[in-house]
Amino acid sequence: MNNIIVRLLNIVLPKNFKRIICLHSISNNYFSLSKFKALVKVLKLLDITFLSLDDIMNNNLPGRFISFTFDDGYKDNIETLMPFLINEKIPSLIFICPYLLNRGYDIDLISEKKLYEAKLATETDIKLWLDNNFAIGYHTLNHVDLFDASDDEIKNDIEVGIKYLEQKFDYKVNNFAYPFGHLPKNRELLFNLLEKNKVTYAYTVIWGDINFESTPYLINRVCIGDFDSLYKATLKAVGVLDFYFKMKHANEKNRI
Ligand SMILES: [Zn+2]
Repeated sequence: MNNIIVRLLNIVLPKNFKRIICLHSISNNYFSLSKFKALVKVLKLLDITFLSLDDIMNNNLPGRFISFTFDDGYKDNIETLMPFLINEKIPSLIFICPYLLNRGYDIDLISEKKLYEAKLATETDIKLWLDNNFAIGYHTLNHVDLFDASDDEIKNDIEVGIKYLEQKFDYKVNNFAYPFGHLPKNRELLFNLLEKNKVTYAYTVIWGDINFESTPYLINRVCIGDFDSLYKATLKAVGVLDFYFKMKHANEKNRI
């Protein structure tokens, strides 16, 4: 990325912000590792510090902060991405659907659940991820579109899924992300279930700085497109393109 643009961004960007990034498969078919490395390099030049999701939600320090999250649980997150994250000491979190673990590359499942055409992680992969001090969150049992789910399905999903994930990995689940960014029609029901199951925060795909003032279950998160250029990915990450989201999704207020 052009040095002058980096310098300009450094001047125009606010001195303090906290933002959460959402990515999926890190592979040559989607967002490549080399592009991710280049993105990290630019964000560092912009004086951005990378924090874990729990830390970014709980720290009050001034400065520019970003936390990376990866949705669905693709094997490449561990195989391809993790060595780089370890090297760079970048904390990250994967939002997992426990029933999608160990499912490999299953084209029917991919099309049914609208997943990426990539291998899914195994339980062993996730153990390795946790052993390296990375975090996990919950993303429904098997990538449920909550907007179309009944109250009973939602109740079962949250009650069963969070316990299942916690027991499987001996891990306290604090964070939840909505598949497709879709909220259920009955938001109160879900928010109550999340609270009952001691989930601290839930993350949408509404672009913006972290909205600490909102309900803890509607936290902003910026999805970077799999085919975004480095330039566009950077502008999204730092908030220059937040206005564009509001224009593009003005008609989807019910779902997101
Ligand atoms: Zn997802």
